[in-house]
Amino acid sequence: MPSRNTTPAAEPTTAAPVKKAVAKKAAAPKKATAAKAAAKKATPVKKPSKAAVVHVPAGPDLEKTRQARRILRLLTARYPDPVLELDFASPLQLLFAAVLAAQTLDERVNLVTPVLFAKYPTAADLAAADPAEMEEILQPVGYYRKKTQIVMKLASALVERHDGEVPGTFEELVELPWVGRKTANMVLGNAFSVPAISVDTHVERVAHRLAWGPERDVEGTETDVAALFDKKDWVSVNLLLILHGRRTCHSRRPACGACPLAEECPSTGLAGKGELDPEKARALLK
Ligand code: SF4
Repeated sequence: MPSRNTTPAAEPTTAAPVKKAVAKKAAAPKKATAAKAAAKKATPVKKPSKAAVVHVPAGPDLEKTRQARRILRLLTARYPDPVLELDFASPLQLLFAAVLAAQTLDERVNLVTPVLFAKYPTAADLAAADPAEMEEILQPVGYYRKKTQIVMKLASALVERHDGEVPGTFEELVELPWVGRKTANMVLGNAFSVPAISVDTHVERVAHRLAWGPERDVEGTETDVAALFDKKDWVSVNLLLILHGRRTCHSRRPACGACPLAEECPSTGLAGKGELDPEKARALLK
């Protein structure tokens, strides 16, 4: 697991406080020391398991949490009822649509998936497909030969390990070929209604510009965003950040002059990169 930058704990800078502490310790009554030792023995410290350290809140300050809530309200007003832009009707369809969405637009994936799932409705059908026929269907999403191999391998793994069903846990999902954190969390949050944050390039960029965390990697951003919101809001916050990144807070030229977050965002204007003129900014909106 990549290490995260955290504020270092305060360390003693001079010998004086240490001396004082030693002197105090020496002067403490024996009874108190015995009671302390007994208490320590009675409450053994549990070692945290590796699984438990995922999504540990970073302990954001109150103002940061309040600002995050204001931003959530503003984004909800801007994008009411946010939904994933990939079309799907089942966990299986979302899993394959997410895999096909690599290096292409959701709209292109939405063009091919109805044809793909009409011809191969189950994982077993996908695994047993004629590669040449599948390649023809997948042509519009690019890298169609490679993506055909990926789809068939993933489908085979689902058949072999999960009777053709999509598993509903993070651990099982990321064990599947070509399924990483982003896809696993996307499927959990949107197909299984499990609180999860799927960090794509938009979430990473917008969260960083809002100064929600120092990290610029998937796992760090996931933890930073999770720490600011209630679990029940994670999926909608996730969708709102994706939409905001796509529509307004663009990578090259964010439309700051037409952004509802302009007063809250520490990156407004983005050192000349963000368009502050309202009219020009409105023209950048998608
Ligand atoms: S003010 Fe600019 S940088 Fe900040 S969120 Fe809005 S578009 Fe992005």
